[in-house]
Amino acid sequence: MERLADLYPDPPIPLDHRDEFTLLVAVLLSAQCTDKKVNEVTPELFEVAGSPLTMFELGEAKILEIIRPLGLSKQKASALAKLSGLLIERHDSQVPQSFPELEALPGVGHKTASVVMAQAFGVPAFPVDTHIHRLAQRWGLTSGKNVVQTEADLKKLFPAESWNDLHLQIIFYGREHCTARGCDGTKCGLCQELYPRRRKPVVWIKP
Ligand code: SF4
Repeated sequence: MERLADLYPDPPIPLDHRDEFTLLVAVLLSAQCTDKKVNEVTPELFEVAGSPLTMFELGEAKILEIIRPLGLSKQKASALAKLSGLLIERHDSQVPQSFPELEALPGVGHKTASVVMAQAFGVPAFPVDTHIHRLAQRWGLTSGKNVVQTEADLKKLFPAESWNDLHLQIIFYGREHCTARGCDGTKCGLCQELYPRRRKPVVWIKP
């Protein structure tokens, strides 16, 4: 945690947004897609649909036209149109501040809800995607076989007030140094510090 805080003292939120709603939309769009790609389409989308009402009125077909460059665009366009309608109907056009209410929205799973709770509302959460899962395994922070177990392990290890920054710091470290393509666990200071007795390269079991 200290090493990552030295490297990334004030980690920025990677997805461009204007408020809670546009953050929710950007996070939903980022499923199976890079943040960079999402940031390329959201300016046009938010220009015409920056609120639940304008998104709902834009409708699924026009949303799809704008977000087509992204993966799973059809499902995401449908989810955004429905989600916007539900925010108007159930939540007075506001993004709800609770896990159950967020996770009841179409296209919003636990990871998306965690990002919104953390980054829009400052509630401690530890969103774990496959990248965080991989790094936590490589660093020996979890032996969890899935993201649910990894989230529970990370929450036990680190104080709640560190979770939101730590989540971002691990993501940035992973992008810069510890990519999915692989590493034998001997390349950088973090692994050398975590595993001082390691002499031989490691062959990872599939993270
Ligand atoms: S040594 Fe390899 S596995 Fe360990 S943190 Fe660095 S890049 Fe990741």
